[in-house]
Amino acid sequence: MDYQSTRDPKLRATAAEAILNGLAPDGGLYSMPSLEDIPFDARAVLKLDTQGMATEILTALLPSFTKDEMRELVRSAYEGKFETPELTPTVQVGDDTILELFRGPTSAFKDVALSMLPRLMTASREKCGVTDEILILTATSGDTGKAAMEGFCDVPGTRIIVFYPDGGVSAVQKAQMETQTGSNVCVCAVRGNFDDAQTGVKNVFSAVTEGKLLDGKGVRLSSANSINIGRLAPQVVYYFRAYANLVNAGRIQMGDKVDFVVPTGNFGDILAGYFARELGLPVGKLVCASNANNVLTDFFETGRYDKDRPFYKTVSPSMDILVSSNLERLLYLLSGDTELVKGLMTELKERGFYQVPIALQRALHEIFWQGWCDDEGTKKAIGMVWREYGYLCDTHTAVAWDVAQQYKAAHPEHAPVVILSTASPYKFPAAVLEGLGHSPKGDEFDMMEQIHNETGVPVPKNLSGLREREVRHRDVIDRDKILEYVLGKATQKEWF
Ligand SMILES: *Cc1c(COP(=O)(O)O)cnc(C)c1O
Repeated sequence: MDYQSTRDPKLRATAAEAILNGLAPDGGLYSMPSLEDIPFDARAVLKLDTQGMATEILTALLPSFTKDEMRELVRSAYEGKFETPELTPTVQVGDDTILELFRGPTSAFKDVALSMLPRLMTASREKCGVTDEILILTATSGDTGKAAMEGFCDVPGTRIIVFYPDGGVSAVQKAQMETQTGSNVCVCAVRGNFDDAQTGVKNVFSAVTEGKLLDGKGVRLSSANSINIGRLAPQVVYYFRAYANLVNAGRIQMGDKVDFVVPTGNFGDILAGYFARELGLPVGKLVCASNANNVLTDFFETGRYDKDRPFYKTVSPSMDILVSSNLERLLYLLSGDTELVKGLMTELKERGFYQVPIALQRALHEIFWQGWCDDEGTKKAIGMVWREYGYLCDTHTAVAWDVAQQYKAAHPEHAPVVILSTASPYKFPAAVLEGLGHSPKGDEFDMMEQIHNETGVPVPKNLSGLREREVRHRDVIDRDKILEYVLGKATQKEWF
């Protein structure tokens, strides 16, 4: 029993159970009580190739699995699926190193975790003696749905249904989803906005549990949500990859500190950096970069988390978040105090804010720094990085790049800086074109061509052939029909 709820030490689980359950029964997140005591040789791991690193790190964090089992899961998740065997390459851009997390099958950073999660889920199902098929339900505002489908595509024992708001995703995102292949995937547009789709999916989970609607049907519902420990653990690997690349390039000596700047939304990516640090990677500061939705910047500055504030739709939409769920794990790991965490989460729910005790605030300051950048600054950064260094970055990466420069200016003694890059610039073509000083014309496919003509940067293969690919998913339903749709699909033997 290695895991427990962040809100109650009595709610314990094995790693496999934590992966299958997702959320703890009291609404807390599953966490190990501490990462410090895990037997782990960081220096030895830094000498391995990326799959070797993943095997060691994932076995350490998810001890339900043997090393041999994990090696095979890692291989089946990643082999041949990414643009490079390294999975997440690094590029030198001026004084900084950019860690490219978007070289996966859908050109999204989510691919790193969502390639691994399905393998971990089916393996956990076996460990726990569950024979039901796993049916994943996901509501998406764009990127997560596609990456999840690609990850679960044709994984035995699983099926996935993705709901997205009809008219609420970009043309590229819609085309990516509609053309998804695989016999176990299903995509459905919902008449309404993202909240309608998300609320609809949440209601399906509670209706099915309360009414026992799928009992005895051989199907068990689950989600591919970013609070699942099986999605978080695979992200620790690329911090080790980046560090090893810096050592191998002679930029640092083994043991030197490195600072990481992370464009942050739900706090999963940056929390994985904290895990890497706890496992012994020489991490200096973890810098939390936000857009105009700067709730985390304020939190790290003041120790007060206040979600009651205006919500901005920005050009870095994957960071438009006011409640960063994974922060709860950090508060728990730093304080070791489930009562405190439970109290803070209750305050957030009932009053919309909480204030952490001063000791915890100090502990946060030791490890983290914070900054933010608005849309204007984001586009300016895209233009500047292109002109100065010939590197084309997306809007989320540009936020991090800008905050990295703020960080360095405020800390002249900083360590070498690694900036995490979370999306291909071709995913957000309008803002990227504006950043380059051009006015976007036509639809997003035209804009991708325009960027390619201006910069010569290759369009990722999975995006370039999209227009020609066959549309396989055409369902559109009203938002009050989601439950009916899921029950129909759950009991239908063959989808294709
Ligand atoms: C999901 C996402 C993020 C935010 O990552 P978190 O783990 O939620 O903090 C940043 N950029 C892009 C492009 C993303 O898709």
